[in-house]
Amino acid sequence: MSRNTDHWERRFLRITQDRIRDERALAREITRMHQRSLQNISKELERFFERYAKNDNITLAKARQMLSRADQQSWSMSLREFRQKAKEGGHSQHLNREYYRSRVSRLQQLETQINKELFELASGEERLLKKHLTGVIDETFHRSAYEVERGTGVATNFAKLDTRAINSILNTSFHRSNFSQRVWGNKTRVLSKRLKDTLSTGLSQGHSVNKMSKALSDEMGIARNRAVTLLQTESAQIASQATLKAFEETGVEEFMLSAKLEVNTCKRCWELDGKVFKVKKAKIGTNASPLHPNCRCTEIPYYPDMQRNRRARDPISGEMKNIGNITYRQWRVQLDKQHGTGRIDTEIKKHQNRVSDKKQHRELRNLLGRGVVPRTFADFQELKYLQPDEWERLKQQARGARVGR
Ligand SMILES: [Zn+2]
Repeated sequence: MSRNTDHWERRFLRITQDRIRDERALAREITRMHQRSLQNISKELERFFERYAKNDNITLAKARQMLSRADQQSWSMSLREFRQKAKEGGHSQHLNREYYRSRVSRLQQLETQINKELFELASGEERLLKKHLTGVIDETFHRSAYEVERGTGVATNFAKLDTRAINSILNTSFHRSNFSQRVWGNKTRVLSKRLKDTLSTGLSQGHSVNKMSKALSDEMGIARNRAVTLLQTESAQIASQATLKAFEETGVEEFMLSAKLEVNTCKRCWELDGKVFKVKKAKIGTNASPLHPNCRCTEIPYYPDMQRNRRARDPISGEMKNIGNITYRQWRVQLDKQHGTGRIDTEIKKHQNRVSDKKQHRELRNLLGRGVVPRTFADFQELKYLQPDEWERLKQQARGARVGR
């Protein structure tokens, strides 16, 4: 077998890297979609308040009463109806009729509009995900199969994936539902209910439009994060399936799990790094990626004579280095030897605490001024974790400043 082992692993890793790069762009698009929906819903809410101010037929108190009696189920039900109506092509007509029917309460109008927004949001998200996942299957399968042939020098005449095969991967259920059911579930069951609860609470407690808008915005933020996690997880699961299918088609019998050589790789993944499994025994979530949300592990075709030729960035110096045929665990031992025991653990801590540290950095700079607190965040973390005396002094100064206020 004339396999070029030099670039073997790296070529498969690149397939994963490219996918993750695409997902970053999609996450931005998902964010925009959620922001647009939020804007529209907020506008509806404002309009709702305006109408009450102008029309005394129904008072706000009466609306609150109606709302507290409203059936908790009705929202998700009507969103489901919307979807059905849209499929039949009559959803805008239905909406207009609902909207203008005088007997329909204004509150129901608001609910109907929000349902329409959520319907559009879920439809858009489903379309986006379907397009991306279809591309992931096609690209991952064909690139993996091509790399196996190129690396082994053996042409296998693997069968290209047709639409049916792609759809069969696309619609596979993980944990009893597929991507489409999850998208709709998140919007109909979760977000719809949470928005309704937010409005109910706001109206019954007499919150201002601004306060309610802020609460809606928070809910939409949570929904956005959930949507991005869904994208990443579904995408990784589907890529893993396509990879394993390519291995089957090209006669690869065993694969090795390769974890990303970065300090923030989780322990579960780095303990599996370099472990070899039979393709037939592959089980996504157990010995194949993703092992958890946001997992960046990759399956590499394994041959007993293969030598890993890995590259990794030194987390302290930032330098890219050839580290050869070692596992993640061995890399960690190497780094500890090189930089001193505990130094890498500190890097991990820096990474894990970066969100709260950023907040702390801002607060301290506001409290003590720029001359006292390091200007850059990197320097601030350096001081906090690696210069204990300086850090202690800074904390004392902060305490003094707070008392003095
Ligand atoms: Zn992983």
